[in-house]
Amino acid sequence: MIKLNTNECPYPPAPGVARLAAGMDCNAIRLYPDSNTASLTCALADYYHVKKEQVFVGVGSDDVLSMAFLTFFNGSLPILFPDVTYSFYDVWAKLYRIPYKTCPLDESWHINPNDYKQPNGGIIFPNPNAPTGLLESLDTVEEIVKANPGVVVIVDEAYIDFGGVSALPLLEKYDNLLIVQTFSKSRAMAGMRIGFCIGNERLIQYLKDVKFSFNSYTINMPSQVIGVEAVRDEAYFKEITGKIIATRERIKNVLRDLKFTFPDSCANFIFASHEAVPAKEIFTKLRERDIYVRYWDKPRISNSVRITIGTDAQMDALTDALREICNNA
Ligand SMILES: *Cc1c(COP(=O)(O)O)cnc(C)c1O
Repeated sequence: MIKLNTNECPYPPAPGVARLAAGMDCNAIRLYPDSNTASLTCALADYYHVKKEQVFVGVGSDDVLSMAFLTFFNGSLPILFPDVTYSFYDVWAKLYRIPYKTCPLDESWHINPNDYKQPNGGIIFPNPNAPTGLLESLDTVEEIVKANPGVVVIVDEAYIDFGGVSALPLLEKYDNLLIVQTFSKSRAMAGMRIGFCIGNERLIQYLKDVKFSFNSYTINMPSQVIGVEAVRDEAYFKEITGKIIATRERIKNVLRDLKFTFPDSCANFIFASHEAVPAKEIFTKLRERDIYVRYWDKPRISNSVRITIGTDAQMDALTDALREICNNA
């Protein structure tokens, strides 16, 4: 089976992670973990050159995002996010009864910053966006943050490590910006469930207040210990993200030759459609060959498949299969 449907990393986590996991002192899990997640918070603060009071860690970034919706998106005006974006945003908005409004991406799948200058109760968008993979410039991000001083603007940087430019430097100028990242994609640890956000100290304290009000021990002890090790091994992190970027750029050329078109992805996936073969057929025929990609039967995106970047060998198997499927169409 070749699994290219949920944007996991095809490479193992940092070597120190395996060593630590193998040598884990099981007596230590008798005790509650550190509710402040201090060691991991400090490791992240060091790595990103911010204060530890500016970092909040959660059980995957889905937990961080959901907590941020609950904490910051509680006004009466609608929150804003793109019409084509991460599929959980409208789910949380509905669950928490938060009014929301979507702003259509333009015909080249980009965000129009002017859409985010209307009255609103908060803003969220991924950068690079999912499932398009398109990166917005730091200028665009700043324009949106600057135009909305009265609300929290969340930038979901789940895919920023695959060649994007993080909004972190903007934190010095804006106290309404919250940047969310995850260990699930670029740090090869989706199974560990570690996500975090970085922002102004006051925003981070509000998040902690909400989180601790119903569960103070969310990050388990092994995740805390192993997470620190993953952050420390910068060389390995650069190595695997570099390999994924190189594979992505190579596969873009192969896909173009096979008559696919796609936004120029800056993430660890490509959102592609074929000039002749419908996406649903590509998805089904790949599945018959035990190759799994992602397909949504939703407006605007129903003629594209999202393909996670795997190893070179996996991607060669994929493009061989696509060659058969598209040439026999
Ligand atoms: C994968 C993803 C997440 C959530 O990842 P976690 O595994 O919960 O950390 C959040 N936002 C976007 C845009 C994603 O693609």
